[in-house]
Amino acid sequence: MRKINLSDFQIAKSETARDINRRIILNLIRIRQPISRADLARLTGLQRSTVSLIIEQLIEEQWITEGALGHLPRGRKPRFLHLNNERAGIIGVNVRPKLTTLALTDLNAQFITQDSLPTFEDPNEFLQELSVRIKKLRDSHPQIFCEGIGVGVPGRVERKTQKLIFAPNLGWRDIDIKEFLENATNLPVEVDNAANSCALFELWFGKHSEGVHDLIALTVSEGIGTGIIANDQLVLGVSGMAGEFGHISINENGDLCSCGNRGCWEVYASNSATVDYYSKTNGKNQTGKKDESVKPTFEDILRLFELGDPKAIESIERMAHYLGLGIAMLITSFSPSLIVCVGEVTSVWEKIEPIVKKEVSERTPLATNTKIIPTNELAYPRLRGAIALILQKHFVAPPVA
Ligand SMILES: [Zn+2]
Repeated sequence: MRKINLSDFQIAKSETARDINRRIILNLIRIRQPISRADLARLTGLQRSTVSLIIEQLIEEQWITEGALGHLPRGRKPRFLHLNNERAGIIGVNVRPKLTTLALTDLNAQFITQDSLPTFEDPNEFLQELSVRIKKLRDSHPQIFCEGIGVGVPGRVERKTQKLIFAPNLGWRDIDIKEFLENATNLPVEVDNAANSCALFELWFGKHSEGVHDLIALTVSEGIGTGIIANDQLVLGVSGMAGEFGHISINENGDLCSCGNRGCWEVYASNSATVDYYSKTNGKNQTGKKDESVKPTFEDILRLFELGDPKAIESIERMAHYLGLGIAMLITSFSPSLIVCVGEVTSVWEKIEPIVKKEVSERTPLATNTKIIPTNELAYPRLRGAIALILQKHFVAPPVA
């Protein structure tokens, strides 16, 4: 039961009812496709004529299309409806400190074409080049009408303006990516924190989210991000930037974090933290001083871990220990049904899972109610998250009291 928000509500008019019915039908088509008008009427309890009117509108707007004829033992053969993947598409952009990936997908978030570019230190230079790449993606499939651009960023995004306030791992502050890209492309742009967008993707399109109303997406990369869904909604807080668990101190006297705080969770459990830990004892040159040029990447450490390198095993197991510790904190705070873990470390999940689960079960009595699931990095979960920022706008319930 949700309290009525008396400062932001919309009274129920007949258009509101129509809009709600339209979104219910669009969601049913998305989940049950291919589906007939008769089945939609049966599932919604709406009259056939009402369903037909909504369908005509959705076809006209090119959201859905009629496919093959169905087979029935007798009577008129129904035409099945499905989302229109040939005409409408979405562009997703996943910004990370070294590399930015982008893709054009259909309405089912399936990739049509992809590209990538280095993430330049200078945000303006980067956005210029990104606009060029976006144009190229669109030009490669001119028949596809683009619904908009979703951008996932590793940082804090102000809710109202969608400005990137601070991205510690990029070193960017106060960047208006939305305004820049909207001016450059003439398309609607939605910007959000990468973890929030991964959480939205999981809620709307995830394989494990059926019947799930409370979930957390945990992005483990250069930093650590958490996107929290409670009662089917992102937890935003008054600032719109709530849920930054990666920057909660788990050791008040710990190492300095890029955010300025000390001993943040991400200083212990992120990819960068693991690379730093590994490099502290490895990679010394002959003078005994640490040589930055021999610093491995996180992927190098994963490879060494798989090969049985003792130092890599120690580093990854240490990371797993701290991941478990933080996940226990998340479960104690929110008791979600599901935590989805996103990041390169999921490629060795089978080996680290016992360590993570041991930490979790020892630290929170609520552990048994929460499933912890790794996502498949090869399915580009962060990029799909960015796509979800645009897709979900068309599928969410309209704002009502
Ligand atoms: Zn921090």
